[in-house]
Amino acid sequence: MDVHDRKTRSFNMSRIRGSGTKPEARVNDVCVKLKYSFVRNKSDLPGKPDFVFPRKKTALFVHGCFWHSHSCLAGQKKPVQNSEFWKKKREATIERDARQQAQLEALGYKVHVLWECETKSADTLAERLKQILRVRR
Ligand SMILES: [Zn+2]
Repeated sequence: MDVHDRKTRSFNMSRIRGSGTKPEARVNDVCVKLKYSFVRNKSDLPGKPDFVFPRKKTALFVHGCFWHSHSCLAGQKKPVQNSEFWKKKREATIERDARQQAQLEALGYKVHVLWECETKSADTLAERLKQILRVRR
């Protein structure tokens, strides 16, 4: 693969994901600010959750709206080109998400999803995280 191809591709990817800071990095920053203890990309768990909060036994995925077909505007976008390809790819992603969530729940984890569009404002993000990590007894 030559450099030009790689550059073109990463440019396309960044257009799909939306520019600016990566959603995971924004979640990371807010978690640090709220002093939550967490582990990133825990590879010994199904689906390698983006964030795991061991004390709360909670797994958190940060999902790109497009790839994981969120109900928001960005998630419902239908690519005109290669639409069959994208449709299959996104359907497979949804199935895999559901399977991994079930596996995690079977291990006793609570599983939550934060959508990319929920990470844009630090305040909203902090509220969502507090909600998710509230201890329920
Ligand atoms: Zn969304």
